[in-house]
Amino acid sequence: MKNQYAEILHIGILGAMQEEIGNTINNLYNIEKKRYGDLTIVSGEIKIDKITKKKLFLSIAWSGWGKVSSARASTRLIGHKYKRTNIDFLLFTGVAGSVDSHVRQWDIIIADSLIQHDLDARPIFERFHIPVFNKDELSPKKEWLEWIFKTLNKNFESKKLKFFKNLYKGQIGTGDQFISNKKEILELKKNLPNLKAVEMEGGSVAQVAMQEGIPWVVIRVISDSADESASTDFSTFLKIYNKVSSNLIEVIAENYLKSPKFFNENNSIRIN
Ligand code: SAH
Repeated sequence: MKNQYAEILHIGILGAMQEEIGNTINNLYNIEKKRYGDLTIVSGEIKIDKITKKKLFLSIAWSGWGKVSSARASTRLIGHKYKRTNIDFLLFTGVAGSVDSHVRQWDIIIADSLIQHDLDARPIFERFHIPVFNKDELSPKKEWLEWIFKTLNKNFESKKLKFFKNLYKGQIGTGDQFISNKKEILELKKNLPNLKAVEMEGGSVAQVAMQEGIPWVVIRVISDSADESASTDFSTFLKIYNKVSSNLIEVIAENYLKSPKFFNENNSIRIN
C-alpha cells in the first residue's frame, strides 16, 4: 500500500484573502472541497512529473485577516487529507506593507524571521517573547528558505514572474493591526531595526506549523508602504494582484516536484 502513495507530494497553500490565491484553483483537477464551518479547503491534483512519476496535490484555503483566523486555518490545513494524504509543507503567500524604504510595491520578501510585534507579556517576559518557544523570532529551516529563494530567483526573469520587481529575504512583523501611519512604523523600527514588512498572519502560521512539526515558509509581496497612503495603495494593488498571484504559487509548485527530500521526508509515514 505504501508504495502506491510514496510518490505523492502535497502542499498546503494558505492566503488571508481570495486575491492572494487568484486563479490557482482553476488549474486543479479532481477537485474536492471540504468545509469546516466557514472555512473551505479546496484540494486537487496539479501535476505528474513524467520522469519521476511523482504526483503533486495542492490543498488551498484563505483564512481571513489576522492571527486568530490564520492560526485556525493553518491547523485545519495541517489536519486535512486529500486522497488519504496529509500536507507535507505549508506555504503562506500574501501581501504586506513595507517598512523599509528600499523595499517597494511588487517586491517579494521571503520571511527569514517572523516576529509577533503586538505580543507583549511584560513584565513577566521581554517584549515580543513567545513563551512556548522561549524566543522572540520564528525562522524556517535554512534549507526550506534557501530552496524557495533559489527557486524564485532562478525563475525571476520568466514570463510568470515578470510582474515582480526584487526578491529579498528578511524579517517580517505580524500583528492584529493594519499599519497605515509613519509614526507607528518609526515606533516599531525603534525596537525592530531590521524589520522589512508588516502583515497580519505570518507569525501565527509559523507558530502553528512549528508546534505541529510541519515545514513552512511565509512569502509576502509588497502592496503598500504601511503609511498614510496604505489603504488606497493596498486596495488598488489587490485588484491587479488577484490576476497574477497564482503565478508565484505555480512556480513554487512546479519546482516542488524536483525538491530535495527534506520537505517531504515525513510523507511516506504520514499517509493513511
Ligand atoms: N482594512 C484594510 C485592509 C486590511 S487587511 C483596508 O481595506 O484598507 C490587510 C491584509 O493585507 C492582511 O491580510 C495583512 O496581512 C496584509 N497587509 C497588507 N498591508 C498591510 C499593512 N500595511 N499592515 C498590516 N497588514 C497588511
